Amino acid sequence: MTATDKNTIQPQQWHNLPASKVAQNLDTNLEAGLTPNEVTKRRERFGANELKAKPGKSQLVRFLLQFNQPLLYILIIAGAIKALIGQWVNAGVIWGVTLINAIIGFIQESKAESAIAALASSVETNATILRNGQKIQVPSQELVPGDIVLLASGDKVPADLRLVQSRNLQVNESALTGESVAVEKNTQPLDQDAVLAERINMAYAGSFVTFGTGKGIVVAIGEATETGRISQLMEQGTSLKTPLTRKFDKFSRTLLYIILGIATLTFAVGLGYGNSWSEMFEAAIAFAVSAIPEGLPAVVTVTLAIGVSRMARRHAIVRKLPAVETLGGATVICSDKTGTLTENQMTVQAIYTGGEEYTVTGTGYIPEGEILFQEQPIDWRNYPVLAECLKAGLLCNDSHLEYKEEQWQVVGDPTEGALIVVANKGELERRTLEQEMPRLDTIPFESEFQYMATLHEDASGVRTIYVKGSVEAILKRCQQTLDTQGNLASVDPENIHQKVDAMAHQGLRVLAFAKKSVSAAQDELDHADIETDLVFLGLQGMIDPPRAEAIAAVAACQNAGIQVKMITGDHVVTAQAIAERMGFNQNGQVLAFTGSQLAQMDKSELATAIEDGAVFARVAPEQKLRIVEALQSKGEIVAMTGDGVNDAPALKQAEIGIAMGGAGTEVAKEAADMILTDDNFASIEAAIEEGRTVYRNLLKAIAFILPVNGGESMTILISVLLARALPILSLQVLWLNMVNSIAMTVPLAFEPKSPRVMQQPPRSPREPLLSRSLIKRILAISIFNWILIFGVFEWMRQTTDDITLARTMAIQALVAGRLFYLLSISQLGMAIINRLRGIRQTFSDASVMGIGIACAIVLQIIFSQWGLMNRLFSTAPLNLQQWLICLLVGLPMIPLAILVNRFDPLD
Ligand code: ADP
Ligand code: MG
Repeated sequence: MTATDKNTIQPQQWHNLPASKVAQNLDTNLEAGLTPNEVTKRRERFGANELKAKPGKSQLVRFLLQFNQPLLYILIIAGAIKALIGQWVNAGVIWGVTLINAIIGFIQESKAESAIAALASSVETNATILRNGQKIQVPSQELVPGDIVLLASGDKVPADLRLVQSRNLQVNESALTGESVAVEKNTQPLDQDAVLAERINMAYAGSFVTFGTGKGIVVAIGEATETGRISQLMEQGTSLKTPLTRKFDKFSRTLLYIILGIATLTFAVGLGYGNSWSEMFEAAIAFAVSAIPEGLPAVVTVTLAIGVSRMARRHAIVRKLPAVETLGGATVICSDKTGTLTENQMTVQAIYTGGEEYTVTGTGYIPEGEILFQEQPIDWRNYPVLAECLKAGLLCNDSHLEYKEEQWQVVGDPTEGALIVVANKGELERRTLEQEMPRLDTIPFESEFQYMATLHEDASGVRTIYVKGSVEAILKRCQQTLDTQGNLASVDPENIHQKVDAMAHQGLRVLAFAKKSVSAAQDELDHADIETDLVFLGLQGMIDPPRAEAIAAVAACQNAGIQVKMITGDHVVTAQAIAERMGFNQNGQVLAFTGSQLAQMDKSELATAIEDGAVFARVAPEQKLRIVEALQSKGEIVAMTGDGVNDAPALKQAEIGIAMGGAGTEVAKEAADMILTDDNFASIEAAIEEGRTVYRNLLKAIAFILPVNGGESMTILISVLLARALPILSLQVLWLNMVNSIAMTVPLAFEPKSPRVMQQPPRSPREPLLSRSLIKRILAISIFNWILIFGVFEWMRQTTDDITLARTMAIQALVAGRLFYLLSISQLGMAIINRLRGIRQTFSDASVMGIGIACAIVLQIIFSQWGLMNRLFSTAPLNLQQWLICLLVGLPMIPLAILVNRFDPLD
């Protein structure tokens, strides 16, 4: 074998060979899989099952792209003009500052990108495989050729597989073939020249199982898979673009034209007054530089990146960056019930079987407790129908219990875990029972059908199907039941529904059980086999308590003007009881609809029902999409959770699709904008909080940066028009807009969330970036800034006749005002005010702001006190008295800021 075909085993074609031959060629065992020894060897030889990320743009290109911003063009050109007229120092400083800006931008952007990419890849794909005779789960990267993979609906195919078993297996291969309809698979050998799309006995890496189950042998991994070969598919799409950054891009392009227009005008008007060309270049450049918010792009990226990492810390992993902003605007959250709003810690508490009611003691998965009949502990062996019901729960079951980390845990479905625990309480063990009645075949549980069935054979060769599922799904298939003595009797659906309702009213999740005897010849199980003639065995009701933190989160959402809706496959009464207990409606009863009710409504009825209802039960996954669309038709911004295969369309349609990291299928995760690592509703609320904070912090950055640009450009424009000396030079403007701005603005990205963040209604998505009140705020502060610069400059020039000193003091006064303004919009300012009022509050949250301000002050002192800076930026050292003057004239900013905050609260 040569180095080039390191990842494949000859021959490269597998679809034309019978399954047994494939297994033989790959030296593997279809029933037991590979041995650990063999796995180690193959790992060494074939490497990990992963695709090398395609190299993105090179570092150099990405660095150069930093200059590809309209506003930076102006700076580069300004530098060039300065160089042309021989002002080399000036040119050097302009270019130098531009370069520093690009470097900062580059570093920030790379950091943000790699953080987001790392988060995205931290979501691991697992595969269920057979190794050494055991069924285990491993991360997909660890697969080697010859591994036996078990597929179930919702799985992502982890490597190229030759299928050896298929039960109604359907696979969506759209990523590979572009065909969006799922392909039905089988295992028969095919013609040698069947093309990729026709190889229905193969499952290719990167496609998704949409239905059924299957088993296959890994024939190629990593780069050797079909997906690996068409590697453009794997381009890692970490883009930092979001609707907001696009708005910014548009904004800066418009700004560019305005700046160019006014700069030209300044130039022409100044010349008309008889000023020299070089003076007017200085004025035009100073104007252009002053009007550009150079620090803004860096702040936007940093703010978004910080939002993403804060969300990750609170168990919400953002897969698509725009979700960070959209989250803040969410108006409705549609959440799953089981596991998201509830603990998913199920415990059977009530059993109804053979016409009798039993209760069960004990909590959680600890197999300690008793089955009580008329409040007396009993032995199930004396109750034949109870015994059958418990057995059905054990046999028709794919989960098991494990004692790990000092507690009992379910591996598999918590609903099934509860059934094992209750049987264990009667000392009925799954393993022994399975040995007595081995399983021949299975129909796995799928939300769509709401049942699961297994076929068993006992020692005497009698074959029985056991079924468990929702009451609706089971009862309609039952004609008979067992009476107390275990004799066949006819079912009374009315009576059973009453029992179900009684359990559901207590918030219990109810499962129904049935069985059917079949001929000794039957060894396969199909949906058709259990359409009729089942014998009803009974009901088991399990409690699944609401998560305490989810209750608090629901309340927080309601305070924040966000509606919460429960969407579940569970029984309507159960769902309603849980919703009421969780305070979905503060006034008591919540409005609930079932999926079949919704199905009968026309479009407008549906929209109203969905807007008004809070609980939607027995909802089929396809209906989730209609629910999202109905809400959107009412203008809502929808966050929707999902975990199943059929949830993907709804997750894509929702503004924010949220998948469950734990219980979710790969299909759902792939379709989602965000993944919850703890499957907890409270994490959605946390993410919304962070999303709102991101948006607030961006607004603050805008509200902070733009008035400085406004004040500076007004100063230059007015001074030129009045034919007066410029109070501030282009390089000084550059210093203010870049060095000073970055020190003071970047901390805004780190601003902690406001205590009021979840007490306000969601922001309207139609609201423009620069709202009317924000524009007014910017204007007011700009005018004040202009008065500061212009006033201090003119005053000092007249009193001292030192133009350099006058300019330096004008700048320092502006920075002083700026400092007070920054405090007025930051949490640090709030904390200081609270301290003064005697309200204790820690400063630690606001520490980044403190550091930023300290840096800015030190930089300003260097700016005017250091000889080198005096030469570079034409500044003059100030004495203490002059410093104090600057500070004092900045003080009126405080009352102004308080006034402005009243009209345009940024918190
Ligand atoms: P949800 O997760 O919203 O509670 P599901 O779609 O998982 O809803 O379940 C819907 C119904 O299907 C449940 O109310 C229950 O009756 C039944 N069910 C749930 N899990 C299983 C299972 N593992 N086997 C059989 N039936 C189940
Ligand atoms: Mg479920």
